[in-house]
Amino acid sequence: MHVYTPTSLDEALELLANAARPLTPIAGGTDLLVSWHQQAKDDLDLLDISHLREQLQHIRMTEEYLELGALTTFWDVLRSPKIAAEFPLLAEAARQVGAVQIQTRGTWAGNIGNASPAADGVPVLMAYDAMVLLQSRGGWNAVPLHQYYTGYKQARRQPEQLIVAIRVPRREREYEWFHKVGARRAQAITKVGVAVVKDTQGWRVVANSVAPVVCRCRALEQALDNNTTFQNPKQIRQLLEADISPIDDIRSTAKYRATVLSRLLYYWLRGARKCIAPGI
Ligand SMILES: Cc1cc2nc3c(=O)[nH]c(=O)nc-3n(C[C@H](O)[C@H](O)[C@H](O)COP(=O)(O)OP(=O)(O)OC[C@H]3O[C@@H](n4cnc5c(N)ncnc54)[C@H](O)[C@@H]3O)c2cc1C
Repeated sequence: MHVYTPTSLDEALELLANAARPLTPIAGGTDLLVSWHQQAKDDLDLLDISHLREQLQHIRMTEEYLELGALTTFWDVLRSPKIAAEFPLLAEAARQVGAVQIQTRGTWAGNIGNASPAADGVPVLMAYDAMVLLQSRGGWNAVPLHQYYTGYKQARRQPEQLIVAIRVPRREREYEWFHKVGARRAQAITKVGVAVVKDTQGWRVVANSVAPVVCRCRALEQALDNNTTFQNPKQIRQLLEADISPIDDIRSTAKYRATVLSRLLYYWLRGARKCIAPGI
């Protein structure tokens, strides 16, 4: 194993471009170090970007978007009054990630990069329609987060690319909501989670821990866009089935996940008095 410690973003991109085998970026290390002792290290070369804070740790607001640098942590977001005011779901999700130790080290880019279906930062970013900015020596491109994953733990990032930032469009929003269900109220991996946003472009409903990747629930989104009314959680569950594929695992069962997700959505929509049949 070798650990590369570039002193600038340019050097990091150079190292990624010239590496004989793909380098694994490490930021906060809160995912990468979890299974450190069980992991084979022979094939592992790390690119330690954790000290490139000047270039990669920022919260920037332009007229069109909010930008989080690749080293921006959950804690940075929690401390930002601007974000609390304009993107409350980011603060809400950050508050529910691990405990303070994880919030101060863990980055939003690392949450995306780890590609876990249970990631808590990803659903809120996806519901806000975020873009992932990937940079290589040859330039950069922006990938919508909802198109970033190609399968379980698989993503579009190429070995020579680094996530350098995440951009979230600034839009008028009518509704926004995030809910995480775990075995307890803090420090628990998500059994089922959901983020919902309705903005000028329509509804986005995003669920985690119910599919191989954090996923948009397109059929439900379309029904909401068409002002479909729902009489009971079952009707929502039927629509969710087009997009989710929960499994039984050590944390929960597929049945629990599908039932809880549909009930959460139904009762939230009822509270928001949206798309529920009158009188219910
Ligand atoms: C005790 C504990 C509790 C936790 N609780 C939660 C929780 O409640 N919710 C939750 O969502 N997560 C939780 N996590 C997981 C973890 O903290 C988050 O996923 C965090 O966002 C990871 O960020 P990091 O900077 O530490 O990533 P790292 O561990 O440094 O990297 C994670 C992955 O992303 C890649 N990566 C990192 N940065 C980049 C980049 N700039 N470009 C390309 N790839 C990159 C790495 O190569 C690696 O594959 C927990 C972890 C621990 C140890």
